[in-house]
Amino acid sequence: MDKPGKEKIFIRDDQPSTLVLKGMGVSPGITIGKAYHYDRMDLQTPFYKLGSPSLVQEEIDRFFSALKESEEQLLNLKKKLIDSGSGMEPLYIIDVHVMILKDQRLIDLTVQNIREMSVNAEWAIRMTIEKYRGIFDKMDDEYLRDRITDIEHAGQRIINNLVGKHHVPSELPEGIIVIASDLSPADTAQLKIDKILGFAMDMGGRTSHTAIVARSMEIPAVVALGDITRLVKTNDEIIIDGSAGVVIVNPDPEVRKRYGWKKRLYEKARDDLLDYAGLLAVTKDNHRVEIGGNIEFIEEIPSAIHHGAEGIGLYRTEFIYVNRRKLPDEEEHLENYRHVVGVNGLSWSTIRTFDLGGDKFFPDQKVFHERNPQLGMRAIRFCLKEKELFKVQLRAILRTSIYGKLRIMFPMISGIEEIREAKEILEGEKRSLVARGVKLGNDIEIGIMIEIPSAVIIADRLAKEVDFFSIGTNDLIQYSLAIDRINEQVSYLYQPFHPAVIRLIKSVVDAGHNAGIRVAMCGEMAAEPVYTMILVGMGIDELSMHPLAIPRVKKIIRGITFAEAQSLFEKVLTFSFVEEIRGFVLEEMQKRFPEDFSVDDG
Ligand code: PEP
Ligand code: MG
Repeated sequence: MDKPGKEKIFIRDDQPSTLVLKGMGVSPGITIGKAYHYDRMDLQTPFYKLGSPSLVQEEIDRFFSALKESEEQLLNLKKKLIDSGSGMEPLYIIDVHVMILKDQRLIDLTVQNIREMSVNAEWAIRMTIEKYRGIFDKMDDEYLRDRITDIEHAGQRIINNLVGKHHVPSELPEGIIVIASDLSPADTAQLKIDKILGFAMDMGGRTSHTAIVARSMEIPAVVALGDITRLVKTNDEIIIDGSAGVVIVNPDPEVRKRYGWKKRLYEKARDDLLDYAGLLAVTKDNHRVEIGGNIEFIEEIPSAIHHGAEGIGLYRTEFIYVNRRKLPDEEEHLENYRHVVGVNGLSWSTIRTFDLGGDKFFPDQKVFHERNPQLGMRAIRFCLKEKELFKVQLRAILRTSIYGKLRIMFPMISGIEEIREAKEILEGEKRSLVARGVKLGNDIEIGIMIEIPSAVIIADRLAKEVDFFSIGTNDLIQYSLAIDRINEQVSYLYQPFHPAVIRLIKSVVDAGHNAGIRVAMCGEMAAEPVYTMILVGMGIDELSMHPLAIPRVKKIIRGITFAEAQSLFEKVLTFSFVEEIRGFVLEEMQKRFPEDFSVDDG
């Protein structure tokens, strides 16, 4: 097959880069909002305008006496440390702070701020520090960049001396996600806690003050993130998944959308449905549907099991590539996949090879612009072009096969050539591992995602190549109805109830079953209870979804018979309009589950 040339890979520079940070989730739930870099100075720096020019000199004098006081404190501290026989390191730091207090530029800038802006000395020094922070942030050298903390500490000392005991804290904005090193009880006492959407801290543990406060206020929180305060700026968009312990900074549109949806699910699921989590998805007349969980981070596995996943139906591996200078090596991949396969409580695990491109992240810093990224160098196309990168991932996935039941899944297959080539590469890697003496499991299943209309049309042929299909409705709908899945302008056309979509899905199920293979669905349609009965009626074998959606889908399946689902589906096939189908299905669902469906669903 002809593929484009051999340029290197590719990150888009038209949006701030996505960053994923992992810490310890200490208060569950998902929140999406703007970061607010909490800095004690914000609360402790009073601001006022000097009422008359005559006060300017007074303010400058205050500043100089605070400088002097600060220097005296530091010299006293140094003397104490010398007397107590401490090592040299703290003494150096004190010397550095003294030098900062004497820095002529810092002094001139602050005096200039007082004069020109007619503000109090505390605010003037704070503005000086902000200016320094801007300069230091741009430094390439990490060591130099970190030196801003010395300037901040010295500045804080001056402010403390200016403020004395008389300061009145200013207020923080509402509806923010607080980013801080850690919060003391004194800090939280000053925050309007009930107006905060989430917390992400450099430090802390399950019992740290922030964690306890967050749990009691039911605010999602992740702690022990290391250096989030250095990596995140005020106003960065940020997602906190307090259940998985993950923080995503500047998410791309697709991730933001998915988390918006997860958030809604979380809020619904936590209420009353957990009773269904531990039950099998069996209809009243004993037709069984397997239920998988979709995950993007290994940290989500406990939640998948807790909410009733029998296996992992989709592990999106793309996040392993996010925010890296260097591509992950085989061992790093393995370290991730090892925690997915053979986990107690999961009967199988489906690892999807990476689906980078389109709107998902690129692994390198170089820019690769595409006019139509959704139709571009994405997923399997990208892997078949960058074979070495692909092989590293495949070897790591294969090595997990000794731990448990492994399914490997290739995304975005559009024709037989691609799956053959992917399988050949996989076989090659198997051989090389075996030659290296690596032990592999002997019932690895190979499957493909069906998410391009061409794959639906030749599903009978593709079914002979693989052990299972998994229908990716997010993309299948995008490509069959020609709707960019993240473009809000056309989202009204994004219709799982479109008769074409329903027929496409049914023909995949039939093609798979005729060839004797299993057909799963892992697109978001699988997670929406309004579609569950149709999908069961079509004969789908497995539904895989975000863990939080599982209990509700199980509830639906347990509340119907296969026979009635089949006849509902037959009836749906007679309609031509989206609205007819939606109206009919919704009415049927409302009849059976009045407490679960309203006229706004679907
Ligand atoms: C899909 O397209 O339905 C799917 C599950 O894959 P993704 O959302 O990762 O593209
Ligand atoms: Mg897809």
